[in-house]
Order: sequence, then C-alpha cells, then structure tokens
Amino acid sequence: MQSSFSGRRLAAFVLCLAPLAAHAAGDPAVPPALSAKALEMLKRSVGFRTVEGEGQVPAYAEYLAGELRAHGFAAEDITITPRGETATLVARFRGSDPALKPILVSSHMDVVPAKREDWERDPFTAVVEDGYVYGRGALDNKFGLVTSTAALFWLKQEGFKPRRDILVVLSGDEETSMTTTAALAQELKGAELLLNSDAGGARLRDDGKPDVYSMQAAEKTYMDFEVTTTNPGGHSSRPGPTNAIYDLARIIDRLAAFRFPAKLNEITRAYFESAGESTPGQTGEAMLRYAKDPGDKEAYELLASKPEYVGQVGTTCVATTLRGGHAPNALPQSATLGINCRVFPGESVEYVTETLTRVIDNPNATMKLIYQPVPSDASPLREDVMKALRKAIDQRVPGLPIVPSMSAGATDSLYFRNAGVPSYGVGGLFIRAEDNFAHGLNERIPVASIDGAVAQWRSLVRDLAR
Ligand SMILES: [Zn+2]
Repeated sequence: MQSSFSGRRLAAFVLCLAPLAAHAAGDPAVPPALSAKALEMLKRSVGFRTVEGEGQVPAYAEYLAGELRAHGFAAEDITITPRGETATLVARFRGSDPALKPILVSSHMDVVPAKREDWERDPFTAVVEDGYVYGRGALDNKFGLVTSTAALFWLKQEGFKPRRDILVVLSGDEETSMTTTAALAQELKGAELLLNSDAGGARLRDDGKPDVYSMQAAEKTYMDFEVTTTNPGGHSSRPGPTNAIYDLARIIDRLAAFRFPAKLNEITRAYFESAGESTPGQTGEAMLRYAKDPGDKEAYELLASKPEYVGQVGTTCVATTLRGGHAPNALPQSATLGINCRVFPGESVEYVTETLTRVIDNPNATMKLIYQPVPSDASPLREDVMKALRKAIDQRVPGLPIVPSMSAGATDSLYFRNAGVPSYGVGGLFIRAEDNFAHGLNERIPVASIDGAVAQWRSLVRDLAR
C-alpha cells in the first residue's frame, strides 16, 4: 500500500479534518486509534482489485477476516465461502440470547471496473489528498464496509455484549449478477432485519452542513420486456394492408399514452411529506397534497410530468430500444421494441405483464420477459429502527431530518426483502452531490466523514442488538 503519510501524521490529519464528525455531549468520540485504523483499512481495501473476473474478492475477504480476528472476533465465528471466482464472508458477533433472531450488517466487497488510463490517479491505489480518499470503491461500497465494521471493533473494545447476534454479511458480486447476494439471502432469511451500508446517507450543502438524511427502505423492481410484431413481408414495391413496422408504431403510440395507476406507500408518503416542506412553489404543494391523497389528479399529473418524481408515484414502463426490417427494398418481417419497467413495490410481475399485454392489444405481436425480476416489498418503517436511527443521527447533527426513500434499485437489500427480511439503507456517508462519483472517475470520499459514520454505526447497531 502506498501512502504519502506516516501513521502518526495520518491520525493527526484525520482529527484536524473532523468538523463534520461533531458529537453531542455524552456521545463518545471515536478513539483516535480506531479512526486511524478505519482510514488505513479503507486505503488497504481500495488496493484489492475486486472487479468481476479478477478473482480478488477471496483475497480481500481473507484480509478482512484477519482484521476481524485482530479485533476480537473468534476465528470459528468467521466464515468465508468461495462462490465461483468470488466469495462471501459472514462474521458473527455473538449475542447472549440464542432465541433472538440476528441482525445483519451488510456491504459488498466487489467494485465496478476502472481503467487506469481514464483516471488521474491509479484507481486501485488509495490516495489521500485535500481531505479526500480517492480510489475505485472508496465510496461504493468500501467506505460503508469499513465504517460499519470499525464500529463493531469499537463495540468489541468496549466489551459490549449484545443480546442478539450481529452478523457482518459481505457479498461478492453486488455490482454484477448478485448470485452471492441471492445465496446469502436464502441462508440468512430468518434474520430480524438487515442494515445495509450501501444506501442511505446525507447530502452536504456548499457550506458543508447536511440538509437531510435519506434512509432507503424500498426499491423498485427492474423488468425488461421485448415486443415483436411479425408479418410475411414481401417486396417493397407491393405494400399490403399490414406492415410489421406500422403495427409496432401503433403499439408505441399506445404505450406512450399509457400510465400505470397512481401509487403511494408508507415510504413515499413520508418522502413527499418531507420533500414537500422544503420544495418551493407548485411542486412542493403537489407533493403535500399527493401525500394526503394519491387520488388528487392535479397533484399526480404535476408530479408524474417531472422525470425526478415520476418514479415515486407509480410503476413506469418506457420504450428503450427499437429494431426492425432487414432491407431497404423489402417489407419488414419483424420489428422489435424493448421496454424497461420499474415496478412499484407490491405490484406483481403478472400484473405488469397482463397490463402491458392489454395496452399492446395486437394479435400479431408477441411479448416476452427478458429479465427475470426479483420483486421486493417495501420494508415497514419500524418504530425500533426509526428510533435508533433518529438517535444515531442526532449524535452527529441534532435534528437533521430523516427522510425514507424508495430507490430505482438495486442493492443487496433487494434479495433480502424478497426473502422476507426487512432491510434498511442506513449508510454513514455525508457528501456533497458534486463529490459523489460512485461508479465514475476519481471516486472519492471525504476523510472527515469517516468518524461520523463509525459513530453512527456504533450507536445504531448497539441500540438494535441489545
Ligand atoms: Zn454499491
């Protein structure tokens, strides 16, 4: 691992950059050694090239297992399971009451690819510069992995004895096929709840203060369809009464005019109530009215007309790809339209399929499902979770509004919700929107966010596990 700082300077550097990690009286500050450890772990983590196909996830898991053992986890409580070229890791922080269901603290070890020539710096050598840690995965999701794990090291150091088991659950292909996630969700489906470090967090304004903390409690379901119209075709000099492209064009027109019904759930209601307060003008009013009554047509129309809110008011299906015909001088024998849907939690695959079939309404068209969806219901806004999160956030920024959110998907939570485990994206990253380069070039996280995230995780896990 290359570093431009010695360990001592590093610790000092972290401390002097820690205005965001403010803690209220009574909340213990992160011990400097643990803070330095978290930064060191994050830098080491970036160094593992855990991209699909590189076979580096097992080595990264071994490194993490070493850190877990060094911080009080028994060797027999750490399980690394090889799964193809990747792996999963589950580590158990033993609780005193085996009758209670465990809580899961999840992250993913893999990252999306990064090309050296595209980046200003080597993406797989963490660099600390101007208060940021740069590197592929620094944000997504190694920051969450490291800060949530460091919080458990802290609880071990303090001699905390949970009543429930706390399981560290690390998947190995979240960014690609999610087969490790699917396997983990099946193995751990009896859990009480899951806290996911890969979603949730606060957006910082330009003055460095957060405006709102967003907690992810639902994800829409992703579905892809293809609709194909067929026709015997023929010579283009002899057009007949039917045409595969014309048929498809009529289908496209009907699809463009169609909208799935207005939907509201506990999470989007809370979201619109909160966003409505801070959004000026007609849009803010529409949010508040919609939160009260999703049957309010005017409010619905206004929100559905905006790309940033249309996904929050119902299922969306939209044309995304088009191909058809085979020669400029031949009548088309087929034409195919790709449709992508983001399904509101609670609406079934069958319902969406039947509805689209009805909208298409053409005996010469066939529709097939291209992507096998994994539906997941919204997680209930449980009182124990909301209370523990409120307390953890108050210790960082007293009174910071917490807004539940539904994202377009997908994180590991998708599979756990599908398996019946309520799942919450409650990551500790506080970052400016313009600094958020997840999946992009020069991915980075503010060093100053580490301490606050560790403290947030410690408070949250402690309250829910005891
Ligand atoms: Zn992620």
